[in-house]
Amino acid sequence: MFSPKDYLLVEWANVRRNLQETLRFRYSESHIRDFYAECEERLDYIKKNLDATSTKETSDLREIALSLDNLAHLIARVERSHLEEFSWPFGDALAHVAKHICTEQLALQREPLFFFAAEGGINSYAIRPEKQGPSAVDQKIFSVIFPRSLKDHVLLHAILAHEVGHAAYATDSILHDLQRICETLIAGSPVATPNGMFAWCKNNIGVVNKGSSGVVAERHASWTEEFYCDLFGLILCGPSYLCAFQSMLEPMALPKGTASQFVPSHPPFECRMIALVEAATELGFFYSRDRKDKESLARTFDAALIDKASNLRAAGHSLLISRNVRKATRELMALMGRFDDLVFPPLDFELIQKLDRALERNIPPTEGIVAGGKRIRQWEDRVPDRIDFRHILYAGWVHWSNKRKLPIYKEVDSMEKLFSTINRLCSHAILQQQSIGWWIHNLSRKSHDGSVEKGNPR
Ligand SMILES: [Zn+2]
Repeated sequence: MFSPKDYLLVEWANVRRNLQETLRFRYSESHIRDFYAECEERLDYIKKNLDATSTKETSDLREIALSLDNLAHLIARVERSHLEEFSWPFGDALAHVAKHICTEQLALQREPLFFFAAEGGINSYAIRPEKQGPSAVDQKIFSVIFPRSLKDHVLLHAILAHEVGHAAYATDSILHDLQRICETLIAGSPVATPNGMFAWCKNNIGVVNKGSSGVVAERHASWTEEFYCDLFGLILCGPSYLCAFQSMLEPMALPKGTASQFVPSHPPFECRMIALVEAATELGFFYSRDRKDKESLARTFDAALIDKASNLRAAGHSLLISRNVRKATRELMALMGRFDDLVFPPLDFELIQKLDRALERNIPPTEGIVAGGKRIRQWEDRVPDRIDFRHILYAGWVHWSNKRKLPIYKEVDSMEKLFSTINRLCSHAILQQQSIGWWIHNLSRKSHDGSVEKGNPR
């Protein structure tokens, strides 16, 4: 038999051993070094607390046991991260834009580390963010989960921008500002209060039971956060987020007339879709008459989304107040704009047309090869800036929308093949752009200090 303290001392040694067996050569050297340093620091912190706690201080020992358990789970998740099981160029690009907003504004805080793992199917997309806590002082470690079944489908990965919204919500430094935006978002609507939300659910989706005390308030907080994360995803990833959202969530939506006994954890798909199209309109993502260039290329893409929302609105699925969705969108856009590279870059239809033409020729959608056709030999040639991965995704979705309506792609096999091909080409394009990033980074270093160093391309 063990005393609680002795048992925790043995478990501490076990977790430490697990840590030593984790990762090996699966990430870059600096990434691994940071991960080990952070985990060692947490282990030291736990050990110091454990040493200073007597076996009689049961509630303190329980706290220590929970910290150790959290760390063991984290190490196990990171151990299961395999580069070959997800589209790592996409993962890297997403981590790059997400890291700033997820960093606490504290003197010693460093940018979080992201590790990627694959699980299950379409419901698996997730980011497991860490809250600021006593044992996570220097560097947070986030696990990002991709569905194993969709590993190469980068167009659908745009949905992960929603999960970055959850990660940002776990950042204490900006939580207050985000909560204020959430209040604007739901203001005046039937879901502005927990009781109002329950009444709406009762009348509209057949909810009959409040459940145990606190459940409705908890679900109300969850609904508010989900609505906000949708806006966040849209502002981060642009119109591609809308397509990924609709494609994956609509098949999972509860059929009309299906009653759920308790308030569900997420608002209905239909209400979210309407709010998203409202926000996308506010952000200028759709065709307008003074932008003829967009009309020809993105007409099908835009129309499908606008029509979807109009039909849902006509069927009585509106929930949030339109002007408040637009106001919250502007406020969130202003907040997100404070962080480098976080916001979807302005639409550039000349570029999107070039990328679309590349896809038409079955080559990865990148501007350099299509437009120039000549090789870049040296730094002085001035390589154009990398194409943002979100423009590549958008070009992929626009191309898909236009091709999909052709009779040849009515058959399941040809449709699936088309979508896979577009995804593969877009994934290659993101990878290629990252290589250019490396090149620019290393050569700019060389031009500044005369030496090319190996290091992080960012
Ligand atoms: Zn969510």
